[in-house]
Amino acid sequence: MSNEMLLMIPGPTNLPQPVREALAQPAIYHRGQQFAQLLEVCADGLKPVFGTERDVLILTSSSTGAMEAGIVNFLSPGDRVIAIDTGKFGQRLGAIADAFGANVTWLKVEPGRAASADVLDALCAQVEPKAVLFVQNETSTGVCQDVAALSEVANGHGALVMVDAVSSLGGIPFQMDEWSVDVVMAGSQKALMLPPGLAFIAVSERAWQAAETARMPRYYFDLRAARQSAARGQTPYTPNVSMIVALAEVISLLQAEGLPAVYRRHQQLGQATRAAVQALDLALFADPEFASDVVTAVQSPEGLDSTELVKRVRDDHNILISGGQSELKGKIFRIGHLGCAGIEQIRRTIGAVAASLVEMGYDCAVPAATEAIDGVVANY
Ligand code: PLP
Repeated sequence: MSNEMLLMIPGPTNLPQPVREALAQPAIYHRGQQFAQLLEVCADGLKPVFGTERDVLILTSSSTGAMEAGIVNFLSPGDRVIAIDTGKFGQRLGAIADAFGANVTWLKVEPGRAASADVLDALCAQVEPKAVLFVQNETSTGVCQDVAALSEVANGHGALVMVDAVSSLGGIPFQMDEWSVDVVMAGSQKALMLPPGLAFIAVSERAWQAAETARMPRYYFDLRAARQSAARGQTPYTPNVSMIVALAEVISLLQAEGLPAVYRRHQQLGQATRAAVQALDLALFADPEFASDVVTAVQSPEGLDSTELVKRVRDDHNILISGGQSELKGKIFRIGHLGCAGIEQIRRTIGAVAASLVEMGYDCAVPAATEAIDGVVANY
């Protein structure tokens, strides 16, 4: 469809053709053999993406459902936890823990930066938390945190490590087992190239042990039930069968491209986007040291409300980029480059942003941005 909107937001992302075709297949019975086989293919196929040999469970919900499952299955009311507040999504895990009665200590990080392992270390020594909660890729600011380093600190204090990898999984490497992460949550509509509606959660042996004594209330998201059903090739409740058919297709696509190539493509897209943005004389919002390869946050030029730019790019170019969220509304805009995104889409998006800025009276060196993208491409 030529008039289809190009989604350059950090999810939902554009759907590859084989995924669209899979979604159009007839529904299948969720207690039958065909479904059991599919579920196994999907759960096993996701393991390398999580970097784990542990259980990966598939839930029918948005990603926040996996986040809630991650909290309520392993914690009890009153448990002390540290939640790293890197922005809107770093706040969510802590907010869920708080809603279910955990005693949350916040580690506030300056927007656009990642948490320091040393600061976390000092806070862990003070709080002695049962768990440390944080996001790998903070979608609201375009920051990617060093999961291995933060996890090592938390492990050193005997805390469970729970990571929201919703916007990064499948686009940025994750090594759950190597990094000793206990609970990893993700969702379908980001780098995994599906529509919204499935959530994924991987659980370590240590976390399953914690589940034995955890007392937070749970029912739909009781992962012990999900684990028992998964062993029989089922889910406890009726799953979104069409999405699971399509997930099997996604796994084939990831296997065909190869995960190292998938990650490299995202790295290239991240680098190209940042180089082009800077060539346009715009300032990156995230500290380059922590810049995400799946979403780039850009500061609005002086005097420009980014909401206006987002509208113009959408209406004049049929490309959707994102504005800022919460206190960053109007102040930044964000370009998502994840899932089945490619360099041509970055060129189109940068071209549209630059043309829109020029129309709005801002000076933009469009050829410099094209050259910057070419320069990055030449190095890959
Ligand atoms: N965590 C991160 C990092 C996200 O980017 C998002 C969505 O953008 C979520 C959690 C919430 O996901 P959902 O809306 O699928 O519940």
